[in-house]
Amino acid sequence: MQTVNTVESLREAVESLRENGTVAFVPTMGALHEGHLTLVREARKRAAHVVVSIFVNPTQFGPNEDLDAYPRRMAEDSRLLEAEGVALLWAPDVAEMYPAGFATTISVTGVSDNFCGASRPGHFDGVATVVCKLFNQVRPDMALFGEKDWQQLAVIRRMARDLDLSRPHARDIVGVPTVREADGLAMSSRNQYLSAEQRQAAAVLPRAMRTAIAAIAAGEPAAQALAALEATLLGAGFSSIDYAALADAQSLEVLDAPGQAPARLLVAARIGSTRLIDNMAVG
Ligand code: AMP
Repeated sequence: MQTVNTVESLREAVESLRENGTVAFVPTMGALHEGHLTLVREARKRAAHVVVSIFVNPTQFGPNEDLDAYPRRMAEDSRLLEAEGVALLWAPDVAEMYPAGFATTISVTGVSDNFCGASRPGHFDGVATVVCKLFNQVRPDMALFGEKDWQQLAVIRRMARDLDLSRPHARDIVGVPTVREADGLAMSSRNQYLSAEQRQAAAVLPRAMRTAIAAIAAGEPAAQALAALEATLLGAGFSSIDYAALADAQSLEVLDAPGQAPARLLVAARIGSTRLIDNMAVG
């Protein structure tokens, strides 16, 4: 595996990979776990070469968020990626990604308005801008993202369509189902912030979500099922709920009840200062 830290060396390395096969790209912020590695394995099945980026993007963190505390484990991550057969690791620093004078922001309206867009102002502008830059830097044939960050995936697909991106084309943005711990908790780099007691409470989230989905499927009004879900989380030791909502799976518009189009249950909740998100299909 080759590791590159400048846009120029990245371009050269990707060019030579592309000469003998397709390139799949997996963007990450590092502190890799089985969720990330599942994206890499899926990428390997779909393309001749896999490029992974590790960049903790400051512009997608709010002023009081965990940018400084976010885990950074480049040496260990690098070993894990090498063992998975990754061809190229793109690991720019902040100055390489945002040179002096950087002044452009991509803002995807609508799909990024609710949920994490509302509870983390500016977050999706940071995500859309850095992902657009990463796409232009790597110019992959396809890119893989986790469904764990459902709204992020919707924002990136919208951006790719709206900006007529060709590398990757919107149709080549692949969503990969959420990888979970044995007790159902969605894997996340942020799970390591949890104490043993908090970690136990966190497992209530996916269970309570399944209960709410079953209730909605049985005809209970969504508002009632969501109120019960919130009460369960607060009773289990969650400190606050950012949102718990039923939404159209593509447009992310809030729904009162599931209709013909696919719907999604989306939740963000805090245990202490750790913010956990999860989402599941409804119906
Ligand atoms: P992050 O490093 O958190 O920015 O995540 C990098 C990529 O891995 C994103 O596309 C995430 O959606 C994806 N990802 C993170 N956790 C999981 C998970 N538990 N299952 C599947 N994909 C995940």
